[in-house]
Amino acid sequence: MDTNMLDWSDPAPVAPAPGAAPQPAQKLEAGDATGLGAIDESGGRVSVDDKAMINCRADVNQLLPLKYRWAWEKYLSACNNHWMPTEISMQADIAQWKSRDALTEEERRAIKRNLGFFATSESLVANNIVLAVYRHLTNPECRQYLLRQAFEEAVHTHTFQYIVESLGLDEGELFNMYREVPSITAKAAWALKYTQNLSDPAFATGTPDNDRAFLRDLIAFYVVFEGMWFYTGFAQILSLGRRGRMVGIAEQYQYILRDESIHLNFGIDVINQIRAENPGLWTREFAEEVRGMLREACELEVAYGRDTMPRGFLGLNAALCEQYMHFITNRRCAQLALAPVFPEAENPFPWMSEVMDLKKEKNFFETRVIEYQNGGALSWD
Ligand code: MN
Ligand code: FE
Repeated sequence: MDTNMLDWSDPAPVAPAPGAAPQPAQKLEAGDATGLGAIDESGGRVSVDDKAMINCRADVNQLLPLKYRWAWEKYLSACNNHWMPTEISMQADIAQWKSRDALTEEERRAIKRNLGFFATSESLVANNIVLAVYRHLTNPECRQYLLRQAFEEAVHTHTFQYIVESLGLDEGELFNMYREVPSITAKAAWALKYTQNLSDPAFATGTPDNDRAFLRDLIAFYVVFEGMWFYTGFAQILSLGRRGRMVGIAEQYQYILRDESIHLNFGIDVINQIRAENPGLWTREFAEEVRGMLREACELEVAYGRDTMPRGFLGLNAALCEQYMHFITNRRCAQLALAPVFPEAENPFPWMSEVMDLKKEKNFFETRVIEYQNGGALSWD
């Protein structure tokens, strides 16, 4: 061993003795890769103007005064909609799943692939929030919401664990579908490349290229994953629920959909706010790239729709889901102020828009709060 490689003059740090004076806080550079932000030791307070969505040069721990009230309000709405999957009875679902003729083979396949997609998607989304997004969103209002959202993703993953256990499904089959079913693998792989880029410890925002990489991750996860890819699944399960099939799962999906609609709207607000604060990022070229991402994501979802229901069932088939995904893709374009990808698309499931229409969101939540406090179930209309 070459002892010259070791520098004996610089001993390894030792833990301070109990009661020793604390070390002075390390001065952190703005926009550093830790996401901790700068601590101003001069005694100056953070003013609203110092706050920023990304690359913040101020202390990221001062929630007040609020600058991003929309983020704080989403945190409050989310807390008002607290639920747990175990509050929902699975008795009727268990009876239908075990009976020979309550469900067709096509319905069983759609349910299993649907659960298989969601089971791991919720944890992919959670990992993206905690390991990629949180570090780079540099204001306490958004981080407060992210902490709540991360917990909600845990509740959603819990929901799939509860369903698998209640129905006695094959755990390995379901939780490995994202590796083994090609249309699900393709979606997971498409999104993972965006988060892997950001979770590299050496990655930091602060240059136009890296700020755009962050925007791409936000678009891939908030707009595509939570805002497009969950919606075929919602339509499948909620359509079964309306016909009295698997009503426990359908009720859980309705709660998840309500959470996801806030996740999506938070993501849209974050993207548009970053864009407003950094006008150079959203070039014409970048806008076209984003439209291309949404088009690709739509194609992947259409393939998934065919794969989950090759023949279709009452009120639902892959062609209608394709039409629905075109409609959803256009809505996401509009929310990002982009030209529609499918100018002619119409909504084939008006009953779905009842649930997710943004204008109705408020009433929807108010209803939910009352029902939650009564411990009752959601009604379908
Ligand atoms: Mn979720
Ligand atoms: Fe979500």
